[in-house]
Amino acid sequence: MTDIVINVSAPHYNLGAAKIVNWLRSQEREIVSFNGDPGLAMPSTAERVWLSTIFSWHAPLAAQIALRMKSRADVFCGGTGMFALGKWWKQETDLEAHRGLDERFEKQRGDYEMTFASRGCPVDCSFCIVPRLEGLTFRLDGCISVWWQRIRFAVLATSHASGPWFSG
Ligand code: SF4
Repeated sequence: MTDIVINVSAPHYNLGAAKIVNWLRSQEREIVSFNGDPGLAMPSTAERVWLSTIFSWHAPLAAQIALRMKSRADVFCGGTGMFALGKWWKQETDLEAHRGLDERFEKQRGDYEMTFASRGCPVDCSFCIVPRLEGLTFRLDGCISVWWQRIRFAVLATSHASGPWFSG
């Protein structure tokens, strides 16, 4: 039986999907991962499908995959893009979305091309999703010190870009 991790966002970003892969590996699961909809390449042995969405405009594609797969696998969906779409996801797929950070993967270490520097924000701007998603307490992530030692070039981003699940 196989876990399928699908980065429903663009291939060059999605820290959360990479963390899920590493977390599943740590549990010695058989894993296949895809960037985008695998279509007919979806393994017939799929037992669990993990859909990671960074932006809300990725959610319709995630729903298409979920509808195709939910009769033969457990389908999970999360990520920043799903935070405000829980009701929509339920209507479209009759499944529950994972909303917010997921502590199973949040601190999963790995050889990532990206990282986030911190989580949470006490400023609490009314238009911003970060305090609602990550809380009002600002905290640094310890992995950035390790990551920083091996890079030559960095783009630092806020929580918006790294996502929770899934950002991630
Ligand atoms: S992360 Fe969000 S709440 Fe914090 S300062 Fe930036 S916009 Fe405001």
